[in-house]
Amino acid sequence: MSIVLVQRPGALKTKIVKGDTVMIRRGKEKGKRGVVKAMFPKAGLASVEGLNVVKRHTKQGAGGAKSAGIFEKESPLPISALQYVCTSCNVPSRVKYDVGPNGKRRVCGKCGEPAAETVKGR
Ligand SMILES: [Zn+2]
Repeated sequence: MSIVLVQRPGALKTKIVKGDTVMIRRGKEKGKRGVVKAMFPKAGLASVEGLNVVKRHTKQGAGGAKSAGIFEKESPLPISALQYVCTSCNVPSRVKYDVGPNGKRRVCGKCGEPAAETVKGR
């Protein structure tokens, strides 16, 4: 992985977590949807399954590659270009926090359906 880290004082605050469905709001993949595969909060980036795919010409052994060749991989997108998509009402919406007796839950800003549970260990 060769991600150029943007120097920031800290991690970017985001409500999107790994496993969320998102819509791309700008750039080459504008309007497309996908599932967040990995988050890079310090760089302000996230990679989305099947989107922003780039070809990498890899030498054998470089970056842990077992064999040389041309590989396709998802290049991370800026988190600011991603919008959360609710899986219940299927529209791009915002994430709200619902504070209840069991603690804070992420809910859809439109229908109030709870969002997918936060994936641990991201
Ligand atoms: Zn919803």
